[in-house]
Amino acid sequence: LDRAKKVLAGGVSSEFRKYNHPHAIFYTHGRGSRIYDVDGNEYLDFTLSQGPLILGHSHPQVLKMVAEYSESGQLYAGQHIREIELAEKMAELIPSAESMRFCLDGSEAVQTAFRIARAKTGRKKFLRFEGHYHGWLDNVAYGISTPGIDALGDREKPNVFPWTAGLPDSSAHDFIILPWNDIDLVERVLHERQDEIAAVITEPIMCNNGCIEPKAGFLQGLRDCCDRYGITLIFDEVITGFRMGLGGAQSHYGVTPDLSIFAKAMGSGYPISAIVGKSDWMDLVAQGKVIHAGTMNSSNPTIAAALATLTVLENELPYERMFALGRKLMQGLESAAKETGHDMTVQGVGPMFVTSFGVGGQMTDYRDTLLADKAKLGRFVAGLHDAGIRVIGRGLWYISAAHTEDDIALALSTARQVLKSI
Ligand code: PMP
Repeated sequence: LDRAKKVLAGGVSSEFRKYNHPHAIFYTHGRGSRIYDVDGNEYLDFTLSQGPLILGHSHPQVLKMVAEYSESGQLYAGQHIREIELAEKMAELIPSAESMRFCLDGSEAVQTAFRIARAKTGRKKFLRFEGHYHGWLDNVAYGISTPGIDALGDREKPNVFPWTAGLPDSSAHDFIILPWNDIDLVERVLHERQDEIAAVITEPIMCNNGCIEPKAGFLQGLRDCCDRYGITLIFDEVITGFRMGLGGAQSHYGVTPDLSIFAKAMGSGYPISAIVGKSDWMDLVAQGKVIHAGTMNSSNPTIAAALATLTVLENELPYERMFALGRKLMQGLESAAKETGHDMTVQGVGPMFVTSFGVGGQMTDYRDTLLADKAKLGRFVAGLHDAGIRVIGRGLWYISAAHTEDDIALALSTARQVLKSI
């Protein structure tokens, strides 16, 4: 840690700093559902490196294809057959993907989506939702929910977060931020401000604060409103893509956006993302009206990682199993909390879910998540960690195709012990 502090700003990742975990653990490697630290300790991993490792750590087919493609040389970005193969596969799997471009991470792809929406509509602003996260770049990060939460105003009034106001070149005024899951409010604001708004962007499942599903009809309501006012509908599937199924959350809920963003799980941890969409939108890129560049985009190893990942997912179809294992773990955790007298809410969709304390039941919206007892969650997560189970600091658990029934049983017995001790 001392060495790290000298050369790495902050010394360790934000995950440790944010949740005040007592230890800075340094890891050496991962295999399947396990990761290992420098002292040789083994951990059952539900973080999946913040989500990407949907096949588990070091999947042999991914490693093999990355090695093969890397050995074949770094072919000129954007002009190799494998990029076409990957795009053809994604066009087949994802309902809204008539055409696409590849980038390196989710934030870049979100930014590209915003550019395309502005070019398509000739309008400037974006409607986004409280509690949703769309990346860390300036253009997309303003309006991140976490800072400024205490200053949230009247639920009925669209507001912009005050924390952005004092920043130079702040683009905060480009965003109208509304509570999520309230279609009547969205309809009213879109009706009033239709001439200003280029796009509505939403995570189809709110995964960055809690793990909250859309109310029945909400996503379709967004689709209908956007159609009515000629506004672009963007689904940010950075988390849900290839996690909820081969066609993402858009297949799961049966609502097709105009543009969507895929990242995390598509590359098994290699840096690749995609902006995919309907031809009417993506043609603006084809015509050069929206510039999409990037030296490293579509590099051989990243394309290899994505092709291998999607091929394994298609061949093995692990989704039913992942949903079943996830639900079993969710139910087991709920029972363990009841037995041990904790007010713990377990909420999510199976392949990902969140454990929270003190929110008094299932949450429907971002403001419900503000009730959470973060100190207690911190004790739970740290206790799990010390007992050999890794979950993301805000209580998020990801299931991978590498997890087994035995892993779930181990996680449950450990969690029961930790709940008893906190
Ligand atoms: N959108 C969502 C929904 C995300 O969860 C994230 C990252 N957690 C991003 C965008 C940004 O992606 P990246 O970190 O790959 O830039």
